[in-house]
Amino acid sequence: MFRALLLAPPGAGKGTQGELLARRHGVPHLATGDLLREHVSQGTDLGRAAEAHMEAGRLVPDDLVIEMVLHRIGGHDGSEPMTDFLLDGFPRTLRQARAAYEWARTVDRTFHAVIVLEVPEDELVRRLAQRGEEQGRNDDTEDVIRHRLAVYEESTAPLVEFYEERGILVRVDGTGPVEEVTERVEAALAPVLAARG
Ligand code: AMP
Repeated sequence: MFRALLLAPPGAGKGTQGELLARRHGVPHLATGDLLREHVSQGTDLGRAAEAHMEAGRLVPDDLVIEMVLHRIGGHDGSEPMTDFLLDGFPRTLRQARAAYEWARTVDRTFHAVIVLEVPEDELVRRLAQRGEEQGRNDDTEDVIRHRLAVYEESTAPLVEFYEERGILVRVDGTGPVEEVTERVEAALAPVLAARG
């Protein structure tokens, strides 16, 4: 059993580490940014509601995101709730975190670990600007990047304390080569996973 969440500012390597960790632990990688971008490109109701927020670097409203994620992991479509997953990019606000915790307690699926990737702000801006050039994501422009970092500080950073109080927070230095970060994450996770019972 492996239920973990990656908590990190934009540009800290959530997507890359998320995919690697999910593969290593054999669990689905659920990245809310990717799911939302799929909705936007498919022109669904959710995609249309989310698009302008994403382009401006704002968060998509809590209710929409909570419904999307709990629908996927919660078996609200009639299937069984998922027992294992690596969540990437959710929760991003205290309201989302409380909704996720509420759900998890109800179905006995609380998270085992919350991994925080720590990267200095200058490095984040540099990585995001580079990604903007390479991948053409329309929220990777300098103004929008600064806004997304400010949104992270204001809305998402408080989750660190929320999970620290629950004793499942794992802090990892997210600088340096990808493989080294992955090894650091695994080393930091080992004692937490050993204690999950
Ligand atoms: P990401 O790919 O994780 O950087 O997410 C890209 C964008 O999707 C964010 O800037 C938000 O606009 C939106 N988004 C992703 N996850 C969430 C979430 N949990 N809550 C609100 N908005 C989200």
